[in-house]
Amino acid sequence: MKKWCLKIFGTLLIGSILLGVFAGCSGKTGRAKRFGEWMEPNGKVKVLSTIAQIGDLVEEIGGDRIDGWVLIHGDLDPHSYELVKGDDEKFSRADLIIYNGLGLEHGASISSNLENHPKSLSIGEEIQKASPQKILHKKRSVDPHIWMDISLWKEAVDPIADRLSQIDPAGQEIYYQRADQLKNKMDEAHRELFATLHRIPPEKRYLVTSHDAFHYFTKSYLADPSDGDTWMERFAAPEGLAPDGQLNPNDIAEIISFLKKKKITVLFPESNVSRDSIKKIVSAGREMGLEISICSEVLYGDAMGKGGYLDMMKHNGEVISRYLEENR
Ligand SMILES: [Zn+2]
Repeated sequence: MKKWCLKIFGTLLIGSILLGVFAGCSGKTGRAKRFGEWMEPNGKVKVLSTIAQIGDLVEEIGGDRIDGWVLIHGDLDPHSYELVKGDDEKFSRADLIIYNGLGLEHGASISSNLENHPKSLSIGEEIQKASPQKILHKKRSVDPHIWMDISLWKEAVDPIADRLSQIDPAGQEIYYQRADQLKNKMDEAHRELFATLHRIPPEKRYLVTSHDAFHYFTKSYLADPSDGDTWMERFAAPEGLAPDGQLNPNDIAEIISFLKKKKITVLFPESNVSRDSIKKIVSAGREMGLEISICSEVLYGDAMGKGGYLDMMKHNGEVISRYLEENR
């Protein structure tokens, strides 16, 4: 093996090892830790979150009093995730297990574990109980992507602070103080995101992504108050509420007709969803003479990316506004 080849191989190997051992750690705070360390008792509240968007809220609220781990990390698909070897240990080690619910983590092995676990908390269900009118549906299925609206995701903060305070009463004051700070930060981010997207003229504020992860986003940030119930006409995706890679000719025709009607020229890929569906649409559309392309940057829907939750939302807003404005 040549020297340069060995070097690349070595880099890849080290990269894969690092990825494996730090898999569930938070990328935002840099508090990289090994799974073995998380399993060790250290006096902190051990919180297992299913997705990174939850893990980030937990870190913001819990600070140094908690020790968090994200189960469905990186680019894994939360819709289809099934428990793997070692996950049982994480469930037994955790003092608190927080999941989205509303059908997001619907893999057979994980959903029953989450629903029946005495230490679990579904923030989706908490929000649904408190504000049922804010939960969206598509063809009678509940849309679980509630984190895509910052003002709605903010409603997860209090239930998390409540539960942490029950488990660790000595930290109650700190949890509620940090929760208040976080809610203020989220309010500001929500307003900024709305302003960023509303710089796009209304006739250009239409979004096409890979799967139906952006309904809440569209309703909050792309629609105008005057849109009323027609806000949903500002978004389309070839794959449903859970990406499945299944695309029939009707799905393609429907999206192409949407692109034509709304004069859309760019489709946005999502970081952890195969681009096959949108590639097929672009190729079919071009054959029909449409000038359409795939955005060269990705959006974050189900996967959070390397920053924190608010970074993810800001990134989405900036990419969408940049590309839609450019295509004026
Ligand atoms: Zn999704």
